[in-house]
Formats: sequence, C-alpha cells, structure tokens
Amino acid sequence: MNKKAVVVFSGGQDSTTCLFWAMKQFDEVLAVTFDYGQRHRLELDCASAICKEQGIEHHILDMSLLNQLAPNALTRDDIEITDGEEGQLPSTFVEGRNMLFLTFAGVLAKVKGAKHIVTGVCETDFSGYPDCRDVFVKSLNVTLNLSMDYEFVVHTPLMWLDKAQTWELADQLGKFDYVREKTLTCYNGIIGDGCGACPACELRSRGLENYLASKGEN
Ligand code: ZN
Repeated sequence: MNKKAVVVFSGGQDSTTCLFWAMKQFDEVLAVTFDYGQRHRLELDCASAICKEQGIEHHILDMSLLNQLAPNALTRDDIEITDGEEGQLPSTFVEGRNMLFLTFAGVLAKVKGAKHIVTGVCETDFSGYPDCRDVFVKSLNVTLNLSMDYEFVVHTPLMWLDKAQTWELADQLGKFDYVREKTLTCYNGIIGDGCGACPACELRSRGLENYLASKGEN
C-alpha cells in the first residue's frame, strides 16, 4: 500500500530535517505550512522554495485567527522577543499553536488520503510549551483518530533529540549542508546561519557547534 505522509513544515531546521526524514520513510510526502501572520513573510517563501526544489506538494493554510486569539512576539513588531524567565514562557509562545497545527494537518491528511503526520516538535529543548510534549502528541493522536474515525500515526522523529543530535540526523540523511544553508530559523529572518544574536540563532548555533565538536572527537 502506498504510504503517504503530511509533514508540518515551517522551512526551519527542525521541520526541514523532518521533511527529509519523511522522504526516506514514505512513498509520498506532502508539506503543510501555516500562515499566522509571521513577522517575516520570508518564512513562507523559504518553505515554498524548499518544497519546490524538492518536488513536494505544498499547502499553505491561513491561520490568521491564531494571531487574533493570541498576539505574540512572532507576529507583532511591538512585542519584544524575550526568553522565558524563571518558570515563564518566552514571548514567542502562542497558546495552543501546536495543537491547532496538528489538528489542521490531520484534516488535510485525511482529505489527501494520508495516514501519517510528521511534526518536528521536541521535548528535549523543552521551553515549556505544553503542546510540544510527547504525552500531548500521543493524546492528540488518539483524539484525531476518534474525531475522524481514521487510523492516523503521528510521528515525532525529533522528540528526544537535542539540537546537536538534530544536526546529526540531517547529516545521516545526507542533508547537512542543505539544512544549514537553506533553512530559516532566525527570528530576524536571515536564512542559513542567521543573525547569530536572537534566541533561535543562539540555540541553533550552539547545537551546530556541539555537533561539529562531537564529530571532530570521533
Ligand atoms: Zn537570528
């Protein structure tokens, strides 16, 4: 039977690594990107460019209601990007975002006859996002199955990896340079190694340095 998957795809390091992972695992892969009024429209362009280059069917879904519900630093210029202080969530947090993304990805998957849904959420670099936890993803998987009377399998290949291990996975997939050069993680909208100063760049470059250091040691 044709194994078909929908990848939740932002054009960033994590979801691009997941896209390549999915392309190895499944016969047919589709990508879905959510437009929720990101500060940098470049994120959508970047996602589109990668899908085009890889020959992946790409869907962009309008999720502007998310910004209406929960204004946050990713969509509003007047909210500063800050790390979470003790016990607080960072200002980039959007309440329920991942739950909504996965739910809509599920609806698309069913419409497209795909059973598999792939998401790059990760509990290891847990910033306190409750809907990125493994227990939540498993719970939603059951709920999706019940809601649509279907047997979805939600895959989270990065769930237990740290950032260095995510680089390692990209490398194992033969896509290290591609992910390094063509993905957009930076909050300031700079593709590849980014601005180097924002929290997303710091996390990404720390992981990269750790991976390259561990590789040198082996
Ligand atoms: Zn940056």
